[in-house]
Amino acid sequence: MLLAAELAQRGVNPLVVESRTAVDERPRAGTVHARSLSHLARRSYVASVPPDEIVSVAGELRSTSFQFAGAPGLTLSAPAEEPAPLAGIPQAALEAAFERRARGHGADIRRGMTAKTIETVVDASGSPGVQVEAAPSGSATGTDITVHAQFCVGADGARSLVATAGAFPAVEVPPTMTAFSALARSGRAGPPPGWNQTTDGWTMHNPSAIGQGRVIGMDFSGPATDRSDPSEAEYLATMTAVLGTEPDLTDISHLTRFSDYGRYHSVLRDGRLLLVGDAAHIHYPLGGQGLNTGMQDAFTLGWRLADVVKAKAPMDTLDDWSRRRAAVAAVVVGNTVLQSRMMNPAMSDLRDAVQAMMTVPAIHDGIAEMISGQFQPGFVTDCAVTDRTTGEVTSLTRLLRTGRAVELRVDENVPRLGENDPDRITMTGRIAPAPPWRAAYIDPDGYLRCSITQ
Ligand SMILES: Cc1cc2nc3c(=O)[nH]c(=O)nc-3n(C[C@H](O)[C@H](O)[C@H](O)COP(=O)(O)OP(=O)(O)OC[C@H]3O[C@@H](n4cnc5c(N)ncnc54)[C@H](O)[C@@H]3O)c2cc1C
Repeated sequence: MLLAAELAQRGVNPLVVESRTAVDERPRAGTVHARSLSHLARRSYVASVPPDEIVSVAGELRSTSFQFAGAPGLTLSAPAEEPAPLAGIPQAALEAAFERRARGHGADIRRGMTAKTIETVVDASGSPGVQVEAAPSGSATGTDITVHAQFCVGADGARSLVATAGAFPAVEVPPTMTAFSALARSGRAGPPPGWNQTTDGWTMHNPSAIGQGRVIGMDFSGPATDRSDPSEAEYLATMTAVLGTEPDLTDISHLTRFSDYGRYHSVLRDGRLLLVGDAAHIHYPLGGQGLNTGMQDAFTLGWRLADVVKAKAPMDTLDDWSRRRAAVAAVVVGNTVLQSRMMNPAMSDLRDAVQAMMTVPAIHDGIAEMISGQFQPGFVTDCAVTDRTTGEVTSLTRLLRTGRAVELRVDENVPRLGENDPDRITMTGRIAPAPPWRAAYIDPDGYLRCSITQ
């Protein structure tokens, strides 16, 4: 939905085939990290810092505590010019906002339709493309459709059909444990709130004062072998095994099963097929990084794919994107593997060693940047811009809301950048805080393309 919104905003006509007839309300992601919040602000999905406030807080950091491998002690920080180091936004709310935006820009969204076959084809004029056949999902009514498109992006989750339709080499890390998540009402003898280490595993409980809270049980006695929908009995058996006693949990619903299985595709483009989100990378949901990484895939792919579709950029733009995103996915999968091993009761020596290392500030800060997505270099922190001619005051984030690239210059004497992009927004004037460049060309996703420093 986010990629569709990004493409439609640029005048490309995406068609979304989505099996579900409505937004998936099952509780999943809720943690939105700093880099994702910065991206979301640059498309006005969340509020950005007003220009005058940017000037007064420049150089400061905002911080919040977080956990690594279930243990407290990680502090996430973000520049005060940016929205926040962390926010709680339900995945369903984001999906609904992306869908509204996509529809508002004219995207064709076919809910209740499941893609069945995907084939790379060549049309009568010799142009390559993709043919997708979709049929109504389950009992939904409607007729089958055949879609011809220039590209097909698989944003179709962990069991991606698109990933199987192309050649996408994968790096896999086998599972070592199994976990069950549910919404449940907890009585006095329920699992303790927060992260809780036991002899055989972990529980994580987000209690709710008014009803069901999220309760997860993580069992390290062996790898997950079953991928079927879990039953309440299985869930309670695992909670009992992990806690060593039967927990007081009732009104159990929204059961899911997951593991620490990790996989990322090291190449995300095969001809006219592309992968984003869980279709491109899956891992243990530790540190709340899955949805974040997927959103960042979409923000960084949208404008590139639109440029390729409009023949404004060469096809290898997408290979460059693929290399960058696969490298990010490798880091994300890697840190979840490390966290899973650290949480294994049989590997307490590894846990102690990493926790000791995390007392070194540079190591702590590197891990914090990794979890929050801020380890990805080249992102331009927000700044206030005062137009030299009109005196209009705005910010980089506000300029990027248009979805176009932005060229900023401190004065008229600096050579122009990005002249081959007539769509870019250019602004010359005072920039605060003072940047390390005199002119910069910033891509629509907020990353620096090039700059002039002299
Ligand atoms: C318990 C739990 C907690 C989590 N917490 C966090 C967190 O705090 N922060 C975070 O960042 N991440 C978290 N995650 C991970 C996050 O939920 C996923 O990374 C995210 O859902 C991936 O989004 P996606 O759109 O790539 O894939 P999905 O959400 O799986 O969406 C894929 C979509 O494709 C559709 N689809 C699939 N096949 C077809 C087909 N053939 N035709 C048509 N449609 C199809 C599906 O219906 C689905 O809507 C958590 C996950 C779990 C299980």
